[in-house]
Amino acid sequence: MSKVIDIAVAGAGPAGLASALYFKRAGHQVAVFERFAVPKPVGSGLILQPTGLTVLAALGLLENIVALGSRIDRLYGADAASGRTVLDVRYDAQTGGRFGIAVHRAALFGVLFDAARRAGISVETDVELQEIDNSGDRAFLTDTTGRRIGGFDLVVDATGSRSRLRRFADAPSEPRPLPYGAFWASLDWGDGFEPHALTQRYDKSSVMVGVLPIGRPDHGGREMAAFFWSLKPADLDAVRTAGIEAWKERVISIWPEAAAFTSQINDFEQLSLARYGHHTLRRPAGRRLAVIGDAAHSTSPQLGQGANMALLDAAALAHAVTTNASVEDALEAYCLARRRHVRVFQALSWMFTPFYQSDSRVLPFIRDRLVATIARVPPAPQLLAAMVAGTVVDPFARAGLKERDWTSVVQEPSADRSR
Ligand SMILES: Cc1cc2nc3c(=O)[nH]c(=O)nc-3n(C[C@H](O)[C@H](O)[C@H](O)COP(=O)(O)OP(=O)(O)OC[C@H]3O[C@@H](n4cnc5c(N)ncnc54)[C@H](O)[C@@H]3O)c2cc1C
Repeated sequence: MSKVIDIAVAGAGPAGLASALYFKRAGHQVAVFERFAVPKPVGSGLILQPTGLTVLAALGLLENIVALGSRIDRLYGADAASGRTVLDVRYDAQTGGRFGIAVHRAALFGVLFDAARRAGISVETDVELQEIDNSGDRAFLTDTTGRRIGGFDLVVDATGSRSRLRRFADAPSEPRPLPYGAFWASLDWGDGFEPHALTQRYDKSSVMVGVLPIGRPDHGGREMAAFFWSLKPADLDAVRTAGIEAWKERVISIWPEAAAFTSQINDFEQLSLARYGHHTLRRPAGRRLAVIGDAAHSTSPQLGQGANMALLDAAALAHAVTTNASVEDALEAYCLARRRHVRVFQALSWMFTPFYQSDSRVLPFIRDRLVATIARVPPAPQLLAAMVAGTVVDPFARAGLKERDWTSVVQEPSADRSR
């Protein structure tokens, strides 16, 4: 679009901030609204895949995030009792020098938020949006105090999996809660763990415990790990009643080395319970409305694609706005650009999650015996690497992105990291 348009971005998570940066750089008027009084990241850590890293590179933020995060070359998981390898995915099964960068959420948030501030983007905080009036020529937002904000040519709903605004999309739907969630904590890095791998232990599919090196939350911060333990939200009260020591003993009975992390936990207050839901909006758009990120599609973090898909949505929407003559055409182009990639990954996540997080006795048996064996035979390692990287279907071309050759990206060695 050659003319300047007024855009409201709801939500200052990865999707909202990336989208605001794209629009501002394209010369549009953009304002971000965030419900938190002080914008802050939620949760522990996540892996940025070559997909999300390509978006950050397009925004000129790759070096900033690489400097804070931890390079991931391998995802490794073993059965806790037998030690048998259940999962061993290596990015280098494919060419191109791919890797992941695991980050503390505060690092991703900080890099995007600083860039937004440098770009002069207005971020209004303490504004909880609850309604869109998109019946006229311009869209208006209403917050929980009843204030009417606008009008805008386009509203971007980037308010995450519990969005209150997506009900204004053309075909709204809500997430279905998944039975398993997880305790997450950001802790000091522990000696004896692989510094460039996500490492997990499983007991059937009802127990999954994992360690992910996530680098530092900010420059000068300590090297940290995200530590997680799968848990049904329905079992939370029973676990709390049994006490923190009982929970720690249970973790160590599954994975004795995890004592390096449980020894840092003295209270349930240090653990956040993440609840997961699964849903995909059939059409992530409405009149003068684009829905991006978790608001449009959320799932369990089993495949670790959520933040990456959120960044891809932001890039695809900005590309659609730049290359189309009207907001309506841009929204149509955005939906088309993301449809295939989102549906494939949502379906893969729906299929794979029960193998790792369910009460089934059959699925973990198949996973441990059959899948683990097949996964070693080409082309399975290449396919698994593409699945983890988020590139089973091309997410780049329709978002106006081009993946780089990653072999030239070098992470500065950190003294802490090499322990
Ligand atoms: C435990 C856990 C582990 C994960 N691991 C990974 C991983 O390894 N890799 C990966 O790619 N993804 C992972 N994810 C998923 C990832 O965190 C999400 O996909 C990603 O944060 C989505 O970004 P978003 O910007 O769409 O939404 P969010 O990050 O949820 O941001 C939404 C923002 O909108 C604000 N907001 C909400 N409602 C309103 C309102 N009404 N008005 C104004 N503001 C509002 C919120 O305060 C928030 O700032 C994980 C998720 C969890 C829970």
